[in-house]
Amino acid sequence: MTKTILFIGLGNMGSGMCANLVKAGHKVHAFDLSDAAMKAAEEAGAHPVSSLTDMDASKVEAIVTMLPAGKHVKQVYTEGLPETLPRGTLMIDCSTIDVETARDLARIARERGHAAVDAPVSGGVAAAQAGTLTFMVGGEKQHFEMAKPILEAMGKNIFHAGGNGNGQAAKIANNMLLAISMIGTCEAFNLAERLGLDAQTFFDISSRASGQCWSMTSYCPAPGPVESAPSNRGYKPGFAVPMMLKDLGLAHDAAESSGSAIPLGEHARRIYERAAEMHPDMDFSVILPMLKKGELK
Ligand code: NAD
Repeated sequence: MTKTILFIGLGNMGSGMCANLVKAGHKVHAFDLSDAAMKAAEEAGAHPVSSLTDMDASKVEAIVTMLPAGKHVKQVYTEGLPETLPRGTLMIDCSTIDVETARDLARIARERGHAAVDAPVSGGVAAAQAGTLTFMVGGEKQHFEMAKPILEAMGKNIFHAGGNGNGQAAKIANNMLLAISMIGTCEAFNLAERLGLDAQTFFDISSRASGQCWSMTSYCPAPGPVESAPSNRGYKPGFAVPMMLKDLGLAHDAAESSGSAIPLGEHARRIYERAAEMHPDMDFSVILPMLKKGELK
């Protein structure tokens, strides 16, 4: 069934997700601080909103947020919601944020009479555009069921991870693993090439051997083997280095608060700190050219 949805945050990820909600037949009001992002959303068929607080939101049934970090989502939930928003609106936060803030947001939404789920995504910009994201949803089962048909317009795997915050917990652990596997993949390509294999030959072997992983087969950091990978576009993001560093910071905080040992996660964070100093505008697969240039020891 089609819904009236307010989408907030039309960046690298949100733009494609918003366009897919429109394609699925939903009526989508779209808001971003960037005029260029608003214009692109309008061209994709969404209705641009000039002021969140002043808009007529009386028909809005769900709000999807796709914002950089927890503080942005909290600011929208506490100060930015439309005054005319009906009680019982379903708040779906798809941003990657810390577990504690996600649980706090659910409480804030509940106090205002709304339902809330955290629904961070995995898959990157290409999947956001293609509508093939994976969603990890935290929240009450009935709210998960309400969110599912909306999420299905933007993704192909929708998982219920448990109560509020559990979607973020899954996402943070997953992205720590992604950082570690990307660094490992880059080291392997660099080593193989230095030992005399070209990247395509190593890819053909390792992608069918036990080194196979998503960082290699879907997002290969060496130019050539995977056409859609940022390595073929000069490492233009994609998933930018500062975003990965942010996620490793979330993993660090979560590990501290839960008393979990993450030695490789911490090492990956230090490597991405260096990458963020040197290549803040690049994709997180930039680790391979950094290794080649001797920028990482
Ligand atoms: P982005 O920086 O491209 O987009 C964020 C958008 O939010 C920008 O257009 C910005 O103008 C807008 N914005 C910021 N504050 C706002 C506010 N108060 N009101 C309205 N708009 C506001 O970021 P992105 O790459 O789209 O990532 C968004 C979220 O998705 C992040 O939490 C990120 O960690 C997560 N994520 C990103 C990827 C990826 O591959 N890029 C993959 C998975 C998850």
